[in-house]
Amino acid sequence: MGLLKDNYNEVLENVKRACDVAGRDVSEVKLIAVSKTKPVDMLKEVYDAGARDFGENKVQEIVAKEKEMPSDINWHMIGHLQTNKVKQVIDKACLIHSVDSYRLAQEISLQAKKRGIVAQILVEVNIAEEESKFGISKEDAKELVRQIAELDNIKINGLMTIAPYVVSAEENRLYFRQIKQLSVDIANENIDNVSMNELSMGMTGDYMVAIEEGATLVRVGTGIFGERNYNK
Ligand SMILES: *Cc1c(COP(=O)(O)O)cnc(C)c1O
Repeated sequence: MGLLKDNYNEVLENVKRACDVAGRDVSEVKLIAVSKTKPVDMLKEVYDAGARDFGENKVQEIVAKEKEMPSDINWHMIGHLQTNKVKQVIDKACLIHSVDSYRLAQEISLQAKKRGIVAQILVEVNIAEEESKFGISKEDAKELVRQIAELDNIKINGLMTIAPYVVSAEENRLYFRQIKQLSVDIANENIDNVSMNELSMGMTGDYMVAIEEGATLVRVGTGIFGERNYNK
């Protein structure tokens, strides 16, 4: 891997190319730099290259890094969120991508209300129905959206999915298409308090295909920061 700044700019170039291919405006797609497990020094390099959206999958990491990084960063909570940790992250995350149960949404609603804010969330869908993944099934997603929409101090902005790990990104095109279609179906229901403006999908291996299929938020870790070492 080269300099993080170069990696970041290369990913931005790819985002732009995928937008060109899809006939989309580059302003429709936001790149989230997924910095989980990476030290603050590395985040700062990517920040200096222009990144203002960072994604983390652990509450403790957002809390710790938020203190050390500049205050104009948008922190995205992209990992599985336990109900008992909502209160720590509720006022730090600009968007919680990983809401997959009514119980979790209730706690987010409660904690947001206590602070007088409106929590911005996405509903996570397990589009390929993989047993190892969190997320609600495609069949149950619409009903969950309807239920969450009734809660106070919480706003659904769209859907998120983690596609299967595949050798060729093309293998995930069908899943990206399916979740895009699901978001269109839900949008057509015109549920109060629900917008389907955001579609969070695509990671290092497949973000260009995801953009071609309608992603508005791509979550890229390895492609910017290099491989993660969980054994340190
Ligand atoms: C780690 C992670 C990513 C980034 O994965 P890469 O393959 O390193 O780009 C994206 N989304 C979620 C939810 C993650 O946990």
